[in-house]
Amino acid sequence: MPNEDVLVLAAGIVVGLVSAAAVLRPAARRPTSWPVALVLLSATWWAWCEVVQLSSSDARVRHVMDAARLPAAGLIGYGALWFVTLFTGNRWSRRWAQILAVEPVVVLVLVLTSSWHPLLVGPHGVGGSLLFWTNALYSRAVLAVAFGLLALAVERGLRDRLSSWLALSALLLPMATSVVVLVHADRQPSDPTPVAFVATALMWLWADRGGWGLRPRTPISVDQMVESLADGLVVVDGRGVVLVANRAARQILEAHGFAGQVRGRHWREVVPEADQPVAKLGGLLSSGDRFIDVRPAPVMANGVQVGMAVQLRDVTEFEQVRAELADQAVSDALTGLRNRRFFLERGQEIVDQARAGGQGVVAAMVDIDHFKLVNDTFGHPAGDRVLARVAAQVQRRARLGDAQVRFGGEEFLLLMIGETLDGALVRMEDLRRSCADLRVPAADGEITITVSIGVFALEPDGDVEDLLRRADMALYRAKDEGRNRVCTA
Ligand code: GH3
Ligand code: MG
Ligand code: MG
Repeated sequence: MPNEDVLVLAAGIVVGLVSAAAVLRPAARRPTSWPVALVLLSATWWAWCEVVQLSSSDARVRHVMDAARLPAAGLIGYGALWFVTLFTGNRWSRRWAQILAVEPVVVLVLVLTSSWHPLLVGPHGVGGSLLFWTNALYSRAVLAVAFGLLALAVERGLRDRLSSWLALSALLLPMATSVVVLVHADRQPSDPTPVAFVATALMWLWADRGGWGLRPRTPISVDQMVESLADGLVVVDGRGVVLVANRAARQILEAHGFAGQVRGRHWREVVPEADQPVAKLGGLLSSGDRFIDVRPAPVMANGVQVGMAVQLRDVTEFEQVRAELADQAVSDALTGLRNRRFFLERGQEIVDQARAGGQGVVAAMVDIDHFKLVNDTFGHPAGDRVLARVAAQVQRRARLGDAQVRFGGEEFLLLMIGETLDGALVRMEDLRRSCADLRVPAADGEITITVSIGVFALEPDGDVEDLLRRADMALYRAKDEGRNRVCTA
């Protein structure tokens, strides 16, 4: 009896059983424990069959052992595919688990019920039987799929590369053993393949747990992470020389017309002189119609600043929306004129600017006469249309630099910059007349309206409050004197 072979197989059995027990103990159990244990126990069983065969010269025993080890090959293949599926992050679906289990279970049941079943007895014993070939085909096929999945994992970096390589090499081990056995069939009294599968299972455990130094080797380097960031990142050293500029940073800088090739250059050369304060302190950089949000942060080491990490984000769309919302906040939706809030916030500033430029300011307060009646007679929607038409008339009388405001419900304020009282009166008389000429179609007829207008020219020492108060007084006068007229304060 060849002692060496038995020793190798026995060692495989002991290691296989101990490892299976260790893997399955509750504290260490995880999803991959089951397929690894299945491979270990099947390989152990196979090795045991080999040992019995080696120790017996009885042809009947040899046949029974030939048959008995058949299910092991199928179960190992099944376990291998199960493990690799989980290892590569795929789902081990119940449906596939059941379909793939059919072959090994059928073989197992047949072998357990009768080692002499016709399907198991070929021209040269079990070796050439139908079940032998079916089983050989099945196990090779599932192992090939497992191999493919692992190769893909290595290729795509699904796990850390070292673990994937380890798992792949582990599967090559029994394949290599089988080849050696085939080549030296005449000199090999026993098959060490089951021992190789025990080693495979152990290597898989190692690869899956990422232990013994495998863990720190992540498949993704810091460089790769930085390069893939959606935000731009520029890192400069203590001298201000650019060490890192990731893809987003290069794109943003290029799109903004700044230097594209930035690595190794001084941050000063990358960003134009005028933008240097923002580039250093942070804020909004604009170039053309685009905006970059710049956020620099000092890079510290042992309490000393060794450089700067500058985060760049293209906020053009955000800025556009912000500007739109800011515009909406001071505009009137119905008429498109500025609203009261705009005037209260900006009125004084506009007046001050005009004054500083030596320009006169004249305010006109326009109010639709008996507008309540329009609403009551023709309905609110018709009233809205009238408001829009009057607003358009007000707008037509405005010049560049003037402010046109819907000051109240049916009250408009026109701030005329660089205008004299006489000039303003002519313009407002024209406005009054064209408002009286308006014909706004309504469901039951045409709407005609008139407006009253109060005009006031700002005095050299007056402020906005004065302006409003006096224009209002003028408007009251116009109402008092019979409406449909232009009055001064
Ligand atoms: P007066 O000649 O004294 O100015 O009379 P009036 O009816 O125009 O003035 P009053 O202040 O009594 O009524 C203003 C009306 O304007 C009341 C309100 O229903 C209407 N109004 C205010 N805002 C809107 C609006 O957005 N749409 C419509 N359709 N009506 C509005
Ligand atoms: Mg009115
Ligand atoms: Mg009014």
